[in-house]
Amino acid sequence: MEKWDLIIIGAGAAGLAAGIYGSRSGLKTLILEEKLAGGATADAPIVENYPGFMQISGAELAEKMLFHCKKTGVVIRDLEAVTALVLNGELKKVKTSRTEYEATAVIIATGAHYREIGVKGEKEFRGRGVSYCGVCDGPFFKGKKVMVVGGGNTACATTLYLSNLADEVFVVHRRDAFRAEEALVRDLASKGNVKIFWNMEIQEIKGDKAVKNVVLRRVQTDEIREVAVDGVFVQIGEYANSELAKEAGVESDEEARIKIDIRQRTNVAGVYAAGDVTNHPVKQIGVAVGQGITAALEAYAYIKRPYYRT
Ligand code: NAP
Repeated sequence: MEKWDLIIIGAGAAGLAAGIYGSRSGLKTLILEEKLAGGATADAPIVENYPGFMQISGAELAEKMLFHCKKTGVVIRDLEAVTALVLNGELKKVKTSRTEYEATAVIIATGAHYREIGVKGEKEFRGRGVSYCGVCDGPFFKGKKVMVVGGGNTACATTLYLSNLADEVFVVHRRDAFRAEEALVRDLASKGNVKIFWNMEIQEIKGDKAVKNVVLRRVQTDEIREVAVDGVFVQIGEYANSELAKEAGVESDEEARIKIDIRQRTNVAGVYAAGDVTNHPVKQIGVAVGQGITAALEAYAYIKRPYYRT
């Protein structure tokens, strides 16, 4: 069985930052990623609030992080899913779709997955007009009509991105105000091809081979309205990917987010968590990076017990 000092699960911003600090501290560091490296950062249409970069695509920022991480000597194995964890002993066991590893410390940086609206037609038309990622699927809707669901930063950023591709972008939000950064809301207001349906929710997504119509319901009055669209981008938040950690005894809150202390420690000795999988209230790339750094330095202190740390 391969033995590592530190295994990081997840190669998003938190995992890659942890990798850089783990490796530079001298830890033999492995990152396991079930998809391709980059995490949610790579899905961000445009990033304008990561210090040092006035404007950069999420994919390019993730690529730079990945390159930096590899250069420090971290081994990254992507398309290798973790299937089980045994975390209570001195040596942690990490089982994957390929093999089994041991590590002295583990950092869980598994991020989150997209929340679904749960209406009729959503599952049926997934991949046939219903999408959860603007960057991934936006180009299929060049010159078409699309609808974005949600009122947070993700919905606003996706709307801006799609407004440069689609002919018309509708936003449907269940309240009368966004909860996004002012800069994003300002940019949105300047777009001539964006129309917002306030105080409305999607009741049903209809179509035949692909999405054709969306049924909207006004929240206060139950008034129904149908809008013709070619695509629906659901952008209503996320759920933490904490299932395997929970099964291995790591505590999480009522929304499945792993509980951490100020040093990214979980309730299990030698196990840390960082990024969107944690219960830290601020979900930002910069925060995920900071959490990853803290987790790696804590793991280093746990493994090497240097004289300057108690
Ligand atoms: P979010 O901030 O949790 O917002 C989710 C939005 O979806 C809210 O407007 C919410 O409505 C709406 N919503 C939730 N459930 C719904 C449902 N069942 N039906 C209809 N609407 C529903 O999620 P997010 O925008 O994905 O962002 C996630 C985190 O990442 C946030 O912390 C965000 O700040 C961060 N983020 C930051 C940036 C950036 O800095 N530029 C970019 C992307 C994400 P209500 O408002 O009524 O609750």
